[in-house]
Amino acid sequence: MTGSQAAERRERILGAAVRQRLLDPDDAVLAAFVDLDGVAASVEALHRAFPPSVQALHAFAAKANCLVPVLEELRTHGMGCEAASPGELAQALAAGFAPERIVFDSPAKTRADLDRALALGVAVNVDNFQELSRVDEILAVRSSTSRIGVRINPQVGSGDIAAMSTATATSKFGIPLEDDGNRERLLDAYRDRPWLTWVHAHVGSQGCPLDLIAQGIAKAVTFAEKVNSDLGRRQVIGIDIGGGLPVNFGSDEPTPTFDEYVARLQAHAPALFSGYFQVVTEFGRSLLAKNGFTAAYVEYTKTSGGRPIAITHAGAQVATRTVFMPEAWPLRITAHDPAGALKHEDVVPQDIAGPCCFAGDLIAQARPLPRLAPGDIVALLDTGAYYSSTPFHYNSLPDPAVHGVRIDADGNVRFRLLRPAETAQHVLARTGGWIRAHPTGPGAP
Ligand SMILES: *Cc1c(COP(=O)(O)O)cnc(C)c1O
Repeated sequence: MTGSQAAERRERILGAAVRQRLLDPDDAVLAAFVDLDGVAASVEALHRAFPPSVQALHAFAAKANCLVPVLEELRTHGMGCEAASPGELAQALAAGFAPERIVFDSPAKTRADLDRALALGVAVNVDNFQELSRVDEILAVRSSTSRIGVRINPQVGSGDIAAMSTATATSKFGIPLEDDGNRERLLDAYRDRPWLTWVHAHVGSQGCPLDLIAQGIAKAVTFAEKVNSDLGRRQVIGIDIGGGLPVNFGSDEPTPTFDEYVARLQAHAPALFSGYFQVVTEFGRSLLAKNGFTAAYVEYTKTSGGRPIAITHAGAQVATRTVFMPEAWPLRITAHDPAGALKHEDVVPQDIAGPCCFAGDLIAQARPLPRLAPGDIVALLDTGAYYSSTPFHYNSLPDPAVHGVRIDADGNVRFRLLRPAETAQHVLARTGGWIRAHPTGPGAP
């Protein structure tokens, strides 16, 4: 899809959403949209990128968009699911994934989490030596069909965004391969545990260059080969290469592509493609980000210190990273009239503010955009992953509705509700309001 086709598609979706009152200046001031045709195309691009020599399970990282109907949609396109918390595991199961197509990767698994995962038979990536001892204790009393691996930290360094780089020398994730004695300790761990048959690495997310990620994966592959050659048996049968393909937030171009990433993997880790190892991937952002946007009404406009400001309904509650780390997470914004049509005239630098009660609640500062007026709509582009699907409950703002959307061959826009908007009742329910309403109900003191 070209940039102008993508823009036209968003305009069409917004127009239909206004006509169907999924966006409404009184009743639905904020809503998010996931382009389900786009998601299907992204999943297909991922599946096509890996050659048929590789037996791969592509597990979607649920944290990128944890809405159960979205996960279900991905399942019908042949994906597995990566869950990194008990809540995400529950979402994956609710979306109908078979346990053997779920990977459980949390850095802080409790004994109960591990017990449940091993009982279910979901794949488990162990984060550290203490967790490995807990798995030993559980397997001493029950058998499990889970594929079990260890997450290693290949310690290849940082990308542009420190908070997104998981393979630095001091990262909190996995067992650091290069620390004194760790490689030997890990080899012993595999030797003593014939059920330890996978190696996992997730090098980083947004901001990591492809070569850095591929070098990290190459170290995981080399380590797996070393285990098998030292033990003189084919114990490690698979590599879980994690996710982390960065997304282009600067234009509608979906770069870098899965094909480009696979080419870098082939250059750095050719053994991954020999067919000797099975492969699991855990992509999140690269499958969903560009297939979603968030739309909000402009409630008021003003100038302050000479600076034009549009007060909108999209702020830190749905664009948390952008608000708190604006340099690392800039978003494209488009300006639309009340009917959803793109505005083009009278471009001036404007601040785009959200509804939260703190001064930093800005989606963009001094952004050149057609002059906004109350009743206009702003769209925050590329927000299909890690934005409206995982809101921040500041100021008790309600979670907005998320609508799936498809456009048929005749250009008809069809919506499907993926998550209803929260009402004031929902907000009360999650803030203890039910305790006053039901003083003797479950959980009452
Ligand atoms: C976050 C995460 C992913 C997904 O990362 P993306 O950048 O969204 O592709 C995959 N695996 C693990 C272990 C993660 O923590």
